[in-house]
Amino acid sequence: MTLLGSFLTDPSFKTVLYIVAIALFIYGLTGLTGPRTAVRGNRIAAVGMAIAIVATLLVDPFNNVVLIVLGLVIGTAIGVPAARQVKMTAMPQMVALFNGVGGGAVALIAWAEFRETDAFASEATYVAVFSMFSAIIGSISFWGSNIAFGKLQAILSGKPVTLGPLQLPVQLVVGAAAVAAAVAIVAGAQAEIIVIGLLVAAAIFGVLLVLPIGGADMPVVISLLNAFTGLAAAAAGVALDNQALIVAGMIVGASGTILTQQMAIAMNRTITSVVVGGFGGEVTAEAGAGAGGAEGGTVKSTSAADAAIQMSYARQVVVVPGYGMAVAQAQHAVREMAKVLEDKGVEVKYAIHPVAGRMPGHMNVLLAEADVPYEQLKEMDEINNEFSRTDVSLIIGANDVTNPDARTKPDSPIYGMPILNVDESSSIIVLKRSMSSGYAGIENPLFFNDKTQMLFGDAKGSVGEITSELQAL
Ligand code: NDP
Repeated sequence: MTLLGSFLTDPSFKTVLYIVAIALFIYGLTGLTGPRTAVRGNRIAAVGMAIAIVATLLVDPFNNVVLIVLGLVIGTAIGVPAARQVKMTAMPQMVALFNGVGGGAVALIAWAEFRETDAFASEATYVAVFSMFSAIIGSISFWGSNIAFGKLQAILSGKPVTLGPLQLPVQLVVGAAAVAAAVAIVAGAQAEIIVIGLLVAAAIFGVLLVLPIGGADMPVVISLLNAFTGLAAAAAGVALDNQALIVAGMIVGASGTILTQQMAIAMNRTITSVVVGGFGGEVTAEAGAGAGGAEGGTVKSTSAADAAIQMSYARQVVVVPGYGMAVAQAQHAVREMAKVLEDKGVEVKYAIHPVAGRMPGHMNVLLAEADVPYEQLKEMDEINNEFSRTDVSLIIGANDVTNPDARTKPDSPIYGMPILNVDESSSIIVLKRSMSSGYAGIENPLFFNDKTQMLFGDAKGSVGEITSELQAL
């Protein structure tokens, strides 16, 4: 081997490259704290990952090289076009899918380790323990994420699906079976069928964990599965003695856990209730009544011209974006409208609910893309005190995050979720296409409020019309 060859394949060189990669992961992560620096942060972390992959391959460059290159080519051929072409509205499903793939890969690595080491025959006990831990969590994460993908993509029903009274016992039995299989392997059992049984039991557990989640609770489970994948990867890193995997896994695990906690607080759920499963509540017939006025009130519709007149006389307009703004891709039109309003001396702010849209930070990303000044984006706690001083709240494709039932109706599936108190403002204008419900599948009494006027139509078109009317005034 040449001098260069032995230098490149020296384990110390790999360690140095890993340290560089880890530093880039952490530096990249700091960029993800704000929408302006997020893209750069993501690129920096991606460079770190590329370095980590090269470092891993350098140590044993000729082992399975064809298979590795084939895997890289197939993964790149699927991943790059998918990520480039995905619509912003389908991003949450894609995140769920990619997260699941990570968990699945970790579970397969644990299985491969079992085969490679002859059932951990001459390995230290901790290698078997961490491998089996990563197999269980990775399998739960893979199957749970796929169910989450199915729900978000509307392939599966968004409503809670449970086994009724059997739900908890079945979940406990499969969970215990997976742990028992892991204990048997660690204790020296060598039959491969036990590992396969472990993966299957964990898969059923993952499916049963996510199927009952309905209503508006998906954000919590998505970030929880994210944390699971990170933990599984970190455990695999310990088993394989791979520092880059340990650190990358712990970063994902820790940030996923913090996000889960924040989402749970935003949804007014406890993490324990998330882990126990079966949360999300059934949508009762009454609470889930579709459009048509179960509230018994009347709905007032308005025109773009009237909406423009009201807003042009306002001192402060608060824009409340939601999932419908993402569907309509209305963010640039919203920014244009806000500029016209500001030119007329109206103060414009944006109220951002932590679970608006379909993924954490969804609204921030869209509005940053449209160059909305960051200072105008107000978090829920900050803006909620201001609604009583707001002349017009302009709700653009938001629904659940403004539903007053969350405050007042204990049998509502979203009861207890903090909402944006738009009903405190002097006037409310809601832009949506119909009286359809939002993600939680429940009616919103806000639409029947005396102060509310509905402007029906696609959000982008409606905002464009309001802007034209404003310019004509
Ligand atoms: P909602 O899902 O409650 O409501 C969105 C509304 O947008 C619908 O009522 C729909 O009404 C309207 N809409 C859809 N398309 C258009 C369009 N082209 N133009 C105008 N309006 C449109 O959204 P919110 O943002 O208020 O709430 C988010 C919900 O999603 C919460 O329940 C949250 O828990 C859940 N969730 C959030 C996640 C997250 O991480 N943020 C992840 C998963 C779920 P219509 O059809 O009449 O137009």
